[in-house]
Parts: sequence; structure tokens; C-alpha cells
Amino acid sequence: MSPTSTDLTPEPAVTPQVLVVGAGSAGVAAAVAAAESGADTLLVEATGHVGGTLAWQLLEHSAGFHDAAGNQVTGGVGQRIVALLQRYGGSPGHIPDDVGYTATRTPVNHAELAMAEAVLLHESGARLMLNTAVTGVSTEGSAVTEVRVETAGVGGSVIRPALVVDCSGDAVVFALAGAAMQTDRPGRTQPVSLMLKLGGVDFGPLLDYARTHPDDFRPGGHVGAADDDHVNLWGLGALLAAGHADGRLSWRRTELHLAGWPTRGEAVLNVTRTVSGYTVLARQVLETVDWFRRYVPGGANAYLAAVADRVGVRESRRVLGRRTLTQDDVLGARRDDTAVGIAAFPIDVHDADAPGLSHTDGLPAAYDIPFGTLVAQNLTNLLAGGRCISTTHEANGSARITATCFTTGEAAGTAAALAALGGFDAHAVDVGKLQAALRARGVIGARGR
Ligand SMILES: Cc1cc2nc3c(=O)[nH]c(=O)nc-3n(C[C@H](O)[C@H](O)[C@H](O)COP(=O)(O)OP(=O)(O)OC[C@H]3O[C@@H](n4cnc5c(N)ncnc54)[C@H](O)[C@@H]3O)c2cc1C
Repeated sequence: MSPTSTDLTPEPAVTPQVLVVGAGSAGVAAAVAAAESGADTLLVEATGHVGGTLAWQLLEHSAGFHDAAGNQVTGGVGQRIVALLQRYGGSPGHIPDDVGYTATRTPVNHAELAMAEAVLLHESGARLMLNTAVTGVSTEGSAVTEVRVETAGVGGSVIRPALVVDCSGDAVVFALAGAAMQTDRPGRTQPVSLMLKLGGVDFGPLLDYARTHPDDFRPGGHVGAADDDHVNLWGLGALLAAGHADGRLSWRRTELHLAGWPTRGEAVLNVTRTVSGYTVLARQVLETVDWFRRYVPGGANAYLAAVADRVGVRESRRVLGRRTLTQDDVLGARRDDTAVGIAAFPIDVHDADAPGLSHTDGLPAAYDIPFGTLVAQNLTNLLAGGRCISTTHEANGSARITATCFTTGEAAGTAAALAALGGFDAHAVDVGKLQAALRARGVIGARGR
């Protein structure tokens, strides 16, 4: 298996030791970790891109690398990706959060992020199949035996892995395998959004407006300057209200998030929101661009530079693991002997019925991520990483952040490699050995017993 046999050339009878599904933040970390741990690793991704939601939902804004006090909680592959991007100039690294929502935030250029992740994958030796969607799963007893995939332009093939890590965001493999799922909030998941990137924004007038209208922004004590690398604004509620009252914005929002690159005149806006689908979001995107040009100081020459290539899903199916992370675990900064990492992002819940955030609950300190949140209850060779790990709806509001997805992906990939190389299943992983392996990889908070 060669690291160069990638993309559109699946081999017949693919039998990797570790199959990772989904090349988002979690899947990249899982595949890099599994391959570097010595397992023959294959990563399959439904779209033509590496990078998942962080890259192609155009967030340009990774979060959750530090706790509220500024202590780093995410290391490992996540930190290596940021360092690689910094080396190429695709990110300023971790910088203070201007609005005080978290201690730091980590701006990234989305396309450069995707390229950096692909470079890291190549160096790790993991094989990559793009445009390849998982369509079916066979099980025998408590094990996944076959994963069927369709590659665009090539056709179907069958993969027979020893271990599978589901980093699809949507728990696709778990669902196809008939695994038990979380049921704590049926039909009431968070709304979806379509991020958009504006070019042609004049940040001088925009930041002057922010400075002179502090009531229209989240307090943070700092408004960036027009010659800053990057600025962060949460607000513009008064202008959004005016646009809504005038009939130019068809939905109500009390604030938006703007992640801006002032010297480039680029601003990424998180403002659209629906529980319907893409076509509703598309109208909202056009209305937002029009509104920005008419109402926002410095916006007159703005144009739609890019729109996310996928609907941004905050929450969907989640696995019912051997252990489930709860709101009490997160808010209580709970410790756990089986910790495979830590996380500290606030619980951040967008309610479909509310024009603002439903609620944001800050954390006093980091919480532990127990190994059991990555492991299926009733399937022995299937692990989860990223947004679909075993959490309640509330805990998912914290654990879904990208820094934490890097951590859980890396833990699941490392565990899968240990199991595959040792010839045992995921339930039999020695957590002490896993923690030692993760610490050696630079994962923060994988404590020994
Ligand atoms: C609008 C919005 C704004 C957000 N803002 C921020 C923010 O500012 N900062 C932050 O850190 N986080 C933010 N988040 C949260 C964060 O982006 C996601 O929770 C995180 O990126 C999820 O990572 P993941 O690796 O679990 O999944 P993803 O990155 O979604 O990756 C899953 C991958 O699996 C692939 N896949 C799915 N099904 C299949 C299949 N059948 N076969 C093969 N591949 C498949 C998908 O194509 C995708 O590439 C935001 C989320 C949204 C929606």
C-alpha cells in the first residue's frame, strides 16, 4: 500500500488494518495518528476535498485550543496542523479572542488548511480515496466485516478493514451497521447554516463603527485595527434589525459573527440559519450580501467571494457509546481515569427557534474526554471521532468544536491502530497504553492511571 495510490484509483479487495471514514478535522487526525502508529490506514471521503466542515464550510476560524484561562488543551495533530499552516503563512496561529468569548481563536485560510492537511496525510503514509462515499456496511456478530463504497467515476468497491473509525460527522457507519444512537433530543437538533465569504470590504469604516457603537457588539474590550492580520466581531444586531424591518432580510438574527482579514478586505459571515435546506440558505446568502452593501459601513463594494460547498451541520446523529459525555460532565469539568484528552470550549447551542444563540455556558476548567465516548456499545471494531462521538445534545454543544474534533479523532485513530496491530478489538484496548501513546503524540490531558 503506497501513500501515492490515492484519489481515483481504489485497488480491488482493499483490506486496510484501519479504515477512517470522513476527511474532516477528526478524520484527518484519526488517519494521521493510525498511520503514524504503524497501521496500514485508508481514509475515504465522500467529497473531492480534505478538510471537512472547518475547511469547506469556510469557517476560517478554528476554536477550542485553549481554556478560558489561556491554558492549551488541544495538542497533537491539531497543533501540528496549525504549526504547518503558520510555516506556510496560512494562519497567524492562536491569537487572543477579541470578544472574550474564549481565550484564543485560530484563524486559518480554508484552502491552505485543506492543502496542509493533505500534506500531513501524505507524510503519515495514510492512503486517501476522495469522491468515495460509504454506502453500505455488513456485520457478523458484533463486528463490522465489510464497508461498501462508491467512488465517483470509478464505481463500487468493498473494503474489509480490521478496525473502522467513523469520522463522518453524521455517524454514517454506525447507522448503517445498526448501532444504537443517542435519542435525548429527537427532532430538535441545532439549525444548519451556509457560511459566506465577502471580498471588497473596507475595514476602516467597519471597525470605526464597531468602536463608536459598542452597544451593538459583544463586549471584549478590544476592536481590531484595519491593518491587523485578523479581526473578530460578534454583533451588528441593530443593522440586522433594520434590514429585517425593511424587508431585505427574510429571517431574524440578533447578531452575526464576522471573521475578517482586514488587509485582504475579506470577511467570513456566520449569519444564515434555517431548519429547512440549501435553497432557503441560498436566498439568505444573497440577501446578506445585498444587506451588507446597503447597511454596513465599509460594505458598499463588497461582493460574494465564496460560499460554503456544503450545508453546515452543527448537530446530527450521535453514537450511543460505552460512555456518554453529559452537560454535568462538561460544566463540572469532570475528571475521568480513562481520559484520552481534554476540552474546554463553552457549551454553545443555537436554537432553531431563537434569533440569537439559545445559550452559551462557559466552563470553569477543562473536562476529560473518556475513552468510552469513542467506542460503540454493541459493535466491537468500530470507533467514533469528531462531532458524532457519544455525547448528549448539550455536551455536543461543546465537543463539536474543531479543536476537540482533532483530539477525539486522534484518540480514536490511535486506539484503532493499537487494536489492529495487537489483533484485538476496540473494547479490549488497554486504556493505560493508549494514554501513554497519546501523550507521546503530544495529546494534552491523556492522563495515565
Ligand atoms: C455554521 C457552523 C459554524 C461553526 N463555527 C465553528 C467555529 O467558528 N470554530 C470551530 O472550531 N467550529 C465551528 N463549528 C463546528 C465545527 O466546524 C464542526 O463541528 C466540526 O468541523 C466537525 O468536524 P468533524 O471532523 O466531526 O466532521 P466534518 O468536518 O463535517 O467531516 C466529516 C466528513 O465526512 C464526510 N462524509 C460524510 N458522510 C460520508 C460518507 N457516507 N462517506 C464518506 N465520507 C463521508 C463529509 O464529506 C465530511 O468531509 C461550526 C459548525 C457550523 C455548522
